[in-house]
Order: sequence, then structure tokens, then C-alpha cells
Amino acid sequence: MKFYRSEIAFLIFLSLLVGAAAFSYQAHDAVLSQMSARQGAAAGLDSGLFAVRASLTLIAIGLLAGFFYFYPLIREQARERGELREMTVSLSEKSATFQQAALTDPLTGLQNRRYFDDALAQYMEEFARIERPLGIMIIDIDHFKSINDTHGHDVGDEVIKSLAKTVLEYTRYHDIAARIGGEEFAVVAPNLSMDELNRLANRLRLAVAELAMKIGNVRLRITVSIGVAIWDGKETTAKLYKRADSNLYQAKRGGRNRVCA
Ligand code: GH3
Ligand code: MG
Ligand code: MG
Repeated sequence: MKFYRSEIAFLIFLSLLVGAAAFSYQAHDAVLSQMSARQGAAAGLDSGLFAVRASLTLIAIGLLAGFFYFYPLIREQARERGELREMTVSLSEKSATFQQAALTDPLTGLQNRRYFDDALAQYMEEFARIERPLGIMIIDIDHFKSINDTHGHDVGDEVIKSLAKTVLEYTRYHDIAARIGGEEFAVVAPNLSMDELNRLANRLRLAVAELAMKIGNVRLRITVSIGVAIWDGKETTAKLYKRADSNLYQAKRGGRNRVCA
């Protein structure tokens, strides 16, 4: 059996206490017997004095040990516990930050593809139960490559950030807005009929087209194509996504800067 230092300290302290109590009892006994019988007075006095001394010695040892050993031990343990607690808090804060980072797109601060997929699957589970419409849209910048080629990658990045802001402005708080690829964004839009989703997508498209961007000395405008789809209640996330993506492809083929459902 393994004893901790604090347990050993406690046992020592307890022994000192018991010893002091025993000697005090002996001293008390010796004084009583001397007072009542006055027999063997010298022997009684000797043993009484011895017991008082022993008891005082043990109390003194107890006080010294308490002051120089037990108290520092308790303090050290309290400090260790405090450090441990701080470490646990900082670790759990770090892990929350890592988790957040793992689900966030660093360029725009929107959610990333992983978060989007998880959220869509979760929404599907919930919306299968309450039988409400669940839609998604995929948004892709038109001819983005030429922006990069003409103005450079940094300007391209700023364009992506501006679009992210607009997407965020046009989505409601329970929508999920994510950057799912280079210049591609996706939105989970629950509780909207096909008509309403189409209108939301078109409002967003027009807002982007009207956005006058000024990045450094560069002024430019962009357009986006959007593919939308409403979940049929049975298909998988991948199937729904594929349907919205092929609608996006139709929008591109149809001349871009449009919404296809
Ligand atoms: P389309 O209208 O058909 O969508 O044409 P597009 O040029 O937008 O399409 P494409 O997919 O060919 O080009 C996308 C470009 O996006 C290619 C790539 O260099 C660029 N890109 C991808 N990720 C980033 C990024 O994080 N920053 C920047 N600046 N460019 C990126
Ligand atoms: Mg693209
Ligand atoms: Mg594009």
C-alpha cells in the first residue's frame, strides 16, 4: 500500500497528538494520586514531571513540524492543484480554438466545407422529422481566373472576402454560409419554398453585380452564377449537392450571372 506524503504527515501529526494526550493523562493521574494519598510522593512527582515534560515536548515537536513541514506541504499541494486547474482551463480553451479553426475558412471567416457537410446532414435529420423544406445554393464567381490573371492573386483574395461579406449579409442567422472551394460558396437555407429560395438567390446575385469593389487602386465588378436545389426528403447530402451543382453548371452554360433551379 502506497502512502502519499500528506497522508504520512497526517499520521505523524496524529501520533504526536495521541502521545501528548497519553502523557497529559499520565501527568494528571500522578498529580491526582499525589494529592489524594500523599503516598510515594517523590515517585509520583517524578513520574508527573516526566509526563508533563514529555507531553510539552511532543506538543512542541507537533508545532514545529506543523510550521516547517505540514504547512509548506499543504501550500505546495494547493499551488500544484492551482497550476493543474490553470493547465486544464488553458487546454480546453486551446481545444475549442482548434475545433473552431478546423471548421472555419481562414480567408473569409465563413464555415468550411467540412462544417457545411455536417450541418447539412444535421438539418436533413431534423427536417425529415418536421417535414419542412430544406434548400441549398452553390455560388460561383464568374470568370474569376481572369481577375487573378489580370490583377493578381492578392486582389483575387480580396474579391473572395468581399463576396463572403455579401453572402453573409444576405443570409439569415440560421442559414449556414460556407466557403467550399477557391471561389465557390454554398448556403444551407432551411424553411424556404423553391420560389422563396429562388428569390433569395436572385437578390444575392443582383447585390453582387451591383457591388463596386475598390481594392487598392483597382476598381472592379464581379458577377456570380448560382445553382439551387430543394431537398426531396429522401436523397443523400451528396445527391442534393450534386443536383445544385449541376444547376450551377446550367447557369454557367446559360451565360453566367444567373440563378438556375
Ligand atoms: P467560371 O465562370 O466558369 O467559374 O470561370 P472561373 O475562371 O471562375 O473558373 P475556374 O474554376 O476555372 O477558376 C477558378 C480560379 O480560382 C482558379 C484558381 O486559380 C482561383 N482560386 C482558387 N482558390 C483561390 C484563392 O484562394 N484565392 C485566389 N485569389 N484565387 C483562387
Ligand atoms: Mg469554380
Ligand atoms: Mg468561377
